[in-house]
Formats: sequence, structure tokens, C-alpha cells
Amino acid sequence: MTDLHDAAAPPRIDLFSDTVTRPTDSMRAAMAAAEVGDEQLGEDPTTNRLTARVAELLGTEDAMFAPSGAMCNLVSYAIHCRPGDEVLLDRTAHPIHYEVGGVAAVAGAQLQPLAGRRGIFSAADVERHVRPPADHHQPRTRVVSIEQTANAAGGTVWPLETVAQVAEVARAHGLAMHLDGARLLNAVAATGVPASEWCRHFDSCWIDLSKGLGCPVGAVLGGSRAFIAEARRVKQRLGGSLRQSGILAAAGLHALDHHVERLAEDHANAKLLAGLVAAGAPGVSLDLQGVESNIVIMDVEATGVTAERFLERLRTAHGVRCSPMGGTLVRAVTHLDVDADAVRSAAAAIVSTAQELRARLVGSAT
Ligand SMILES: *Cc1c(COP(=O)(O)O)cnc(C)c1O
Repeated sequence: MTDLHDAAAPPRIDLFSDTVTRPTDSMRAAMAAAEVGDEQLGEDPTTNRLTARVAELLGTEDAMFAPSGAMCNLVSYAIHCRPGDEVLLDRTAHPIHYEVGGVAAVAGAQLQPLAGRRGIFSAADVERHVRPPADHHQPRTRVVSIEQTANAAGGTVWPLETVAQVAEVARAHGLAMHLDGARLLNAVAATGVPASEWCRHFDSCWIDLSKGLGCPVGAVLGGSRAFIAEARRVKQRLGGSLRQSGILAAAGLHALDHHVERLAEDHANAKLLAGLVAAGAPGVSLDLQGVESNIVIMDVEATGVTAERFLERLRTAHGVRCSPMGGTLVRAVTHLDVDADAVRSAAAAIVSTAQELRARLVGSAT
């Protein structure tokens, strides 16, 4: 079993997720100096500056600060759906696998997983799976949800063209469009297409501050003025309203100033890692061309062990941590706290672990 709360010594190099970053000294200084007020009353000036800035970045009328990205998904689905309604999303999508069934439990909505390719489905997929509204046996489809980048699919980037086509079909059926933009700014870094260009296809969209941007806490949800007014109500209901959140918002503002351009370095490091592993690690397969942002997914099947076992060895022998993605899939995520040297060292550890396991496998077969 994976115990995510392991008490072992901290890994030497941590590629578990881009959530493991620590706030930098200058981010902490910005947080300490933040002007604050009561967020629940709308009186926290720094939070208000952050939401205005993100609304501008996303090109939305308004925006709301939230404690987490998971809450942004939940709040949005709760607004777009009545209980029993349905959300269309890729089968790898975060709300299906990593939000403890929250959408079902709290919003009462049902998730219909689509069989996309590398996390990306097509307008035709949507057309095929929208429920006929006149059929009283079936749930009502209300939302199409897109994940940019597609995390569990390996940080793949939806082409803008595909997003536009999906949005067109969604509109034709009167469906809302939701963007899980936990790593939208990675897609911006990968493509050069501004955030607002993606977001204009959506009714609700959010970015995470606590992933590649390196903040300790927070996400910002954007949408129309009416949508955000409703979102504030749902956030309050979920217990997500905050008080002097300016200390968190200050980290967000700092990250928007200093940690956006550098996401390209994380992408270069992911390619570096993937290249070294692909070239050197026997029994580990990965799609080198498919590494488009800061996530690398590797299949360790031909080393003869599960992902869990592979990761245990990698961690105990080399102090390198990655995350298990089920079965024999292993994920490595690059971020602010790992530089190219650390990535080279992590790749060497993966190569060495694979060599060791392969040698054992070949030895046992003879
Ligand atoms: C991390 C993540 C979330 C949840 O965000 P939190 O801020 O950790 O709650 C949602 N969707 C995707 C794609 C993610 O990677």
C-alpha cells in the first residue's frame, strides 16, 4: 500500500509532484509583508489584488481565491449541475481519481469518463456521449470538463484547436465548459498561447498556485461576475472562506511575478530526465515525444516489478522519490526545487535501479 504520509527521512531529490516545493525566502518575505483584512468580508486587499490580477490573466470578468484546486472543481460542478446531473471528462481526470469522490458526495453530480487519447478527447467523443435531453431514463449532461495540462496522462497539452471544437459542440448542446487549469500556465509555457486564449472557451476556469508556481496554498477560480458571486456562496458553504488570506495571496502575486517564465526550465528538465531514462534504463519505457510539459510517465513493467516496488527501491537506495500511478506506471514531476543537476542525478538513480532489477530478472530466468 502507498502511504502518502510516510515519516521516512525526506528524499534527497523529490519528483513526487510539483506540490512539494517550499516557498522561497523572497516569497516568504512577500508573505510576511502582506497587507491583510478579512477575506470572507471581501476586505483583504492583497487577496483582492490577486483575484483582480488573475481575472485579467484569464480574461474573466471576476475571480475568487480558494484554498485548493479541488475546491475550485467542486464549487464549479456544484454550480453547473443539480444532483443527478452529469459531467463529461477524460477517464484520467483528477476529479475521478484523486478527489475522494467529492463531486458525487458533495455536488451530487455523476462523472462520465471518456476514453480520450493521452488525456485528450475530441468533439466527436462529446457528441457521442451527450445524453439525449428528452430521454427521461438518462441523467442530464451539464458540463464538459477539460484538464490542461492532462496530469495523469503525462502532462499532455490540449491543442487549442481541439478545445475550440469541443467548446463548439458543448455550446450546441447547451453544456457548460469547465477548465481544470491546475497546470494551465504550464500549457502557456509549452505553447506560447496566452491563458486568456484558452479560457475564453470556458464558463469556469482556475489555476493552481501550489503546483508549478511554488506557493504553499491556494488556487484562483475565474468566471463571469454572476458565476463568481455564486462560487463565493458555495465556497462559504464548504467552509472555504478565509480571513487574513493576504499572506497566502501575497505568495500568489510573488509567484506570478517570478515563477511563471521559469516554468520553461521545468519543461526542459522533464525532457532531460526522459531522455536520460529512455537512453539508459533497461526495462523502463516512456514516450519521449509525449513529454510536453513538466511530467514524465514511465512504465517499469519490463523490470519485473510493480511501480510501488520500483519506487521503494529508488527511494531507499538512492533517496529519489517519484509517485506511483497504478500498476507499473511511475510519474516524475519537475519543479522549482529541482535543477538540471538534480534531474541528472535522479535519472542516474532510475537507470541504476532499473539495471539492478533487470539483472535480477534475467538472473532468475536462467
Ligand atoms: C493537483 C490537481 C488538482 C487539485 O488541486 P489541489 O490544489 O491540490 O487541490 C486538480 N486537478 C489537477 C489536474 C491537479 O493536478
